[in-house]
Amino acid sequence: MPARSWIEVSLRRIAENFRTVRAVVGDTVTVMPVIKADAYRHGAVAVGRTLAAEGAQWLAVSSVEEGSRLREAGIAIPILAMADFLPAERDELLARDLTPVIHSLGDLGALDRLAAERGAPIRYHLKIDTGMGRLGERAAAREIAAAVLAARHARMEGLMTHFASAADYTAAQTDEQLGAFEVALAALRAAGVEPRYVHMAGTIAIAYGRRPSWGSMVRPGHAIYGYVSPARGEAPANLLAAVRPALTWKARLLAVKDVPAGSPIGYGGMFRSPRPMRIGILAAGYADGLPHRLSNRGKVIAGGKLAPILGAVSMDLTTIDLSQSAQLHPGDAVTLLGSEGGAAIDAQQMARAAGTISYSVLCGIGARVERIYTDG
Ligand SMILES: *Cc1c(COP(=O)(O)O)cnc(C)c1O
Repeated sequence: MPARSWIEVSLRRIAENFRTVRAVVGDTVTVMPVIKADAYRHGAVAVGRTLAAEGAQWLAVSSVEEGSRLREAGIAIPILAMADFLPAERDELLARDLTPVIHSLGDLGALDRLAAERGAPIRYHLKIDTGMGRLGERAAAREIAAAVLAARHARMEGLMTHFASAADYTAAQTDEQLGAFEVALAALRAAGVEPRYVHMAGTIAIAYGRRPSWGSMVRPGHAIYGYVSPARGEAPANLLAAVRPALTWKARLLAVKDVPAGSPIGYGGMFRSPRPMRIGILAAGYADGLPHRLSNRGKVIAGGKLAPILGAVSMDLTTIDLSQSAQLHPGDAVTLLGSEGGAAIDAQQMARAAGTISYSVLCGIGARVERIYTDG
């Protein structure tokens, strides 16, 4: 059955973007692609396999469940489960050989006792909260070092933190976080602990060349999918300018019709045609992830030309202006994200029009939107 709305994911682009990141950070830094949230909707299994085949040595996900899916698909390289685990997920975490991120010294103690009971060491990465104010241990550096040393069965493999404002070059927060991290790392080293992996940087800190944050590992997500968010203030040049979006999103026209001047369009009559118009009814709405906030302000690409969204985006349908693309018929495909003819819309542009962020646009593409993989 032909799809009403679908995404096309280029695995070649994913591989190229990964190679771009690797070339920028160099051989001494391990690139751990972040494929949480189903690889930002690109499909974690296919993306994970592609990256492993490209030589990725690590993958990062959020949850135990996400890691388990990758293991079930036969992906055997180390996987870091970044966003904590619930007590009920602990057995699965260990059975699947996922590497946990530990976020408090209390949890570290519990992991150590568990490893002692099992009679086998458990490796972990420790996340410290250097100012993000979310997950992560906030204790003083000396206390952290003492707890890491005291754990005899849980083995620290990585020390990490996460930046809150990496793209904001008008704020000092990232430098402050880096400073706090360096203090903790120095205390660990003074205690004789050398974490094999030291990591802080996601896409933004890689792209704008914040080298001191690269440590021995980086965690790019967005860049793997072809995006680097714009910075605020005076940022250095984007080192990842070569990455390209890997995802194209399309939907079919269900109907095409001509309406006279003065016709209200859609819920609330939010739009009223100022002149006789040709309109198209698209088989995609907010249930497919097209942001409702694009009502009366977003655009799609129809027949290679930008076509405004008319009136409210509804659950399953969206009406567009086909005045410039009068040749289109029901069944023809329209591009929501991607390029066609001379026109292009990426997730960043869609997000700006919708008052959201590109991450949310990508992750928000609905479950019923079919996904196909291309080599192109
Ligand atoms: C999602 C995430 C990343 C990746 O961030 P991008 O901006 O997509 O590169 C890195 N680190 C952590 C802890 C994350 O949660």
